[in-house]
Amino acid sequence: MKVTAVDTVVVNARLRNWVFVKVVTDVPGLIGWGESTLEWKTQAVVGAIRDLEPLIVGQDPSRLEHLWQSMYRHQFFQGGVVTTSAISGIDQALHDIVAKSLGVPIYQLLGGAVRSRVRMYDHLGGGDSDAVYGASDEEFAASARRSVDEGFTALKILAVPIGPPLGGRAEVKAAAHRMELVRTAVGDDVDIMVDLHGRTTPAMAIQFGQALAEFNPWFFEEPCQPGNVDAMVEVARALPFPVATGERIVNRHEFFELMSKRACAVIQPDVCHCGGFTEIRKVAAIAETFQVAIAPHNPLGPIATAASLHFAFSSPNHLIQEVMRADVPWRDEVVTPGLPIVAGHVELPIVIGLGIEVDERAAAKYPYQAEPQVAPLGPDGAVRDW
Ligand SMILES: [Mg+2]
Repeated sequence: MKVTAVDTVVVNARLRNWVFVKVVTDVPGLIGWGESTLEWKTQAVVGAIRDLEPLIVGQDPSRLEHLWQSMYRHQFFQGGVVTTSAISGIDQALHDIVAKSLGVPIYQLLGGAVRSRVRMYDHLGGGDSDAVYGASDEEFAASARRSVDEGFTALKILAVPIGPPLGGRAEVKAAAHRMELVRTAVGDDVDIMVDLHGRTTPAMAIQFGQALAEFNPWFFEEPCQPGNVDAMVEVARALPFPVATGERIVNRHEFFELMSKRACAVIQPDVCHCGGFTEIRKVAAIAETFQVAIAPHNPLGPIATAASLHFAFSSPNHLIQEVMRADVPWRDEVVTPGLPIVAGHVELPIVIGLGIEVDERAAAKYPYQAEPQVAPLGPDGAVRDW
């Protein structure tokens, strides 16, 4: 068995372009799918996949580790989120091919199922301060209630407004008000994750944490920008609840440093950014060593969700899986039926490969468009993190 081509199918889903990767083999009808979506870097990722293609074409797709090593190391400059996202989609597609050739689900290739179902959570986006979602606090609390009514037992919100490096009482009170409304709407038994998106400096993250603590956040996510592990440690030590981070980290050495310094209780690698199944399993092994749970990041397309689930079913320290449902109403039309969410969970699927295929004719209805730019500025015209 040999790979004969590596292609991409780009599907515009408003804020994101889903970059689906299709690896073709010389076995008639045997192809694999993966996803390399990286918002605002779509054309760079498509180009990076084209750059990697010569390392894959003509190769035996079952040499999964060898091909990963080749893609990561053979082109001299290693890593960077564009390259590792490109590698991720190809690596997933190679796993899909190998699992299909053996007639087994991908989670079987990854060591077999360690659980019978995966707990999912809904990402509700932000509130009225959010440049993308633009809902009022009340609408926001209502959508949290709807998620719970649909069976979710956990959800994630962006409660903290975009602000200056050091905010005042108004920002802190606004965040606490939003959190209180959501907590009241969903009750005490729902786990609420608060994503700060790195909007805050460590000093502000601690202030927000102290104000929101009475409403029992499950964890604070990205309470400051990634990059300075000691800053994350400072926040983690000061808060009376756990810290999670990792969606923007794609290097196993950075994950190692985060965990060895005890900067977080939960890590959030993305199987579409960190290097696919081959790399996320290594990150998971590091996390297991440090007794850190994994809650993989995934606001991406349907192939990404399927890939995240196969990882979840085979990973002992997996905690919960993010899913995006609020982007476009047709997200399931461009793929064959995926792995359905019932009562906030996905049951162990009996499938071959990923268990999901792209409908290329349906996908062609939503061609590439440049993503809308989200570029918040403060009242002084200076750039702010969103
Ligand atoms: Mg996040």
